[in-house]
Amino acid sequence: METSVSSMHLPLQRTEPHGPVVPGLQIPELDQCVHCGLCLTQCPTYRVTRLETESPRGRIHLVRAAGEGRISTGERFAEHLNLCLMCRACETACPSGVKYGRIAEAAREVIGPPGSALSRAVARLAFTQLFPRLGRMRVLLRLLRFYQRSGLRAVARVLPRRLREMEALLPPVPARFFTPEAEVLPAIGTRRARVGLLNGCIMPLLFGDINAATVRVLRRNGCEVVIPKGQGCCGALNVHNGETTAAKAMAKRNIDAFLAAGVDAVIVNAAGCGATMKEYDHLLRGDPEYTEKAARFSALCRDASEFLADLGLTGPLGPVDMTVTYQDPCHLAHGQKVRAQPRQLLAAIPGLTLIEMEASDRCCGSAGIYNVTHPEMSRTLLDEKMTSIGRTGAEAVVAPNPGCMLQLRYGAQRAKAGTAVYHLMDLLDQAYQAAEDDAGRARA
Ligand code: SF4
Ligand code: SF4
Repeated sequence: METSVSSMHLPLQRTEPHGPVVPGLQIPELDQCVHCGLCLTQCPTYRVTRLETESPRGRIHLVRAAGEGRISTGERFAEHLNLCLMCRACETACPSGVKYGRIAEAAREVIGPPGSALSRAVARLAFTQLFPRLGRMRVLLRLLRFYQRSGLRAVARVLPRRLREMEALLPPVPARFFTPEAEVLPAIGTRRARVGLLNGCIMPLLFGDINAATVRVLRRNGCEVVIPKGQGCCGALNVHNGETTAAKAMAKRNIDAFLAAGVDAVIVNAAGCGATMKEYDHLLRGDPEYTEKAARFSALCRDASEFLADLGLTGPLGPVDMTVTYQDPCHLAHGQKVRAQPRQLLAAIPGLTLIEMEASDRCCGSAGIYNVTHPEMSRTLLDEKMTSIGRTGAEAVVAPNPGCMLQLRYGAQRAKAGTAVYHLMDLLDQAYQAAEDDAGRARA
């Protein structure tokens, strides 16, 4: 018999175990929660539903109860855990330092990816057969580009509403993917560091211009940039959806590739990837061969903004006349605690004005594949975000994470707002380019 959790209120009544205990859910992080509830108002799903079972504290109770065999890990348990965005805003709010992300990941490992049996099977196939094999990703994206440019897109208009909405989330696939001109690209000027760059899975295919901009900005700041051929996808989506076996293999591949490159830092320009890579040491804990290597690797990982702010920008930056607002990606602000550095870099760009939005660190509803698996909640959060952006009057929003960029572009399109969406590296690159153009004009 499954204990009802849909109308559960705290304190959860202690009942005797009546099902099997689940060792995978008996994790030490649960014991750190003192049930104070300070995280509740920071949780996007609780703010919308006002249900304890959709709050961090409620979910922690559910995981503990399931681990002890007091409730089943069936469909209703999975629903509550899967409505979580894994945004980790609760970690920022928590005075006891509860690492909720680890609790959620342990739960996802037990319940598997969200959705119907079919969508779970599709997700599993993608996590195990697509993301670890970037050649297949390229083929798929080329097919997608063909679909988008052929008359086939008109067919989407007759699809059921849910499929039409999913189709609308697809970004246009660019004609060219990012292919580095060499594995090692020299620093411009005096060499200040040798860094590795995560090329990623989606970034080189959908956001190749941002990877190219990141390389240019790093080189202009005296970095020799290594883009090891042996690297692959970081495995973040796998980790977040309970596919840890594939994620571990992907982590090992990256660790081997970057440690062999002998770099001072591993630079990541996608917040979700960076948060996962900084926690490879946790993912590979207990692995006899990789425990130490993973710790060494995780210590090298830096978000591009974090690294450049620490290094200090060099060279002249030209004007980028624009008013922007900044969206803190959850996995940068909450996952990596990187908040000041992107703002510091934006402030260094002449002509650019930053206007802060309300609750810039509240999730935009992207959250990996969440906007596909939970479209209603995702859109509610997106509409709220677009309202906050609109109130600033800024002409553009900066969001250094591909998932947020896609979601915000979709939001701007839905709201017919005309708000442009940029990655921070794109704006820095524009500033360096503007300075070069000015110098060229002065010489002429
Ligand atoms: S997770 Fe932290 S903030 Fe939330 S109830 Fe537990 S101790 Fe309090
Ligand atoms: S990760 Fe985000 S959505 Fe999930 S419980 Fe924490 S605050 Fe709520």
